[in-house]
Amino acid sequence: MKREPALYPIQMAENEMRELNNLRGELSTLKKQMTAVQQKIKELEGKIYTKCDHVWTIDRTNVGEHTEYVCVHCNMSKTV
Ligand SMILES: [Zn+2]
Repeated sequence: MKREPALYPIQMAENEMRELNNLRGELSTLKKQMTAVQQKIKELEGKIYTKCDHVWTIDRTNVGEHTEYVCVHCNMSKTV
């Protein structure tokens, strides 16, 4: 039986190739879902931010150089 040397490695990895393509497709779908969820989160944060009667307190979880404030109601940071 004659073998095509160039095709041989692909034939050997047929299952792996199929799985790889499936996973790439799955990842692409998940990325689209993630983008949609991120957009929805931003949208809701924006709505809550404008509706909340903020009460600012120093953000103790922030260890950066600058003092940051977080709202006790909506838990969002104060945008200066
Ligand atoms: Zn608030």
